Amino acid sequence: LFITFEGPDGSGKTTQIRKLANYLKEKGIPYILTREPGGTKISDDIRSIILNPAYNELTGATEILLYAASRAQHVREKIKPALQSGKIVLCDRFVDASIAYQGYGLGVSLQTVKEINEFATEGLTPDRTYLLDISPENAKKRMLSRMEMEYKEGLDRIEQRENVYHRKVREGFSNIYRENKHRICFIDGDRSEQQVFEDIKNDVMQVIDK
Ligand code: C5P
Ligand code: MG
Repeated sequence: LFITFEGPDGSGKTTQIRKLANYLKEKGIPYILTREPGGTKISDDIRSIILNPAYNELTGATEILLYAASRAQHVREKIKPALQSGKIVLCDRFVDASIAYQGYGLGVSLQTVKEINEFATEGLTPDRTYLLDISPENAKKRMLSRMEMEYKEGLDRIEQRENVYHRKVREGFSNIYRENKHRICFIDGDRSEQQVFEDIKNDVMQVIDK
């Protein structure tokens, strides 16, 4: 069973995926918890190119190919072997993130993003995806408090230009949901951590029982 978590920054993916991992552990259900780029050496090295601040001339095409390359390694080295051994795989972000960020956000053709990722993942699609939606105001608040805690950075980092991009990404996620309702569970992430987890837990137990 392959389960992914998606949603804009600050939507609570990482918090919720950890809660779910703890819950599966308590129940004695075998799983792995992973996130892109997956902690595989090759995937990590590829991602460090994307994140290198010196490479601000990185084009959208290059970015999408690098994400896909990193993902290809993650799928083959970690995700597929775990699924084959019967474990539940919990993954923080997957192909939907590329469709939302590089497709809707950066404006790379959606068809192209999908085709590249189809090749990169050998067509591997999540069985269930938790899409955490959050209002831009709340997302911003959460990210600011995270930045204060983690980096003690100035609060003026999120500018108007960024807002437009994040709005496009959020709309992208909504469209992805509308096209994939059979596998995506839409979660209102503006509620408390406990309320959100309650929804996820109930859904997961139904999916596992099937
Ligand atoms: O997974 P996490 O929330 O840490 O992602 C950090 C950032 O990486 C996202 O905010 C997004 O800007 C970027 N990202 C991306 N395309 C992806 C995955 C992540 O642009 N496919
Ligand atoms: Mg996160």
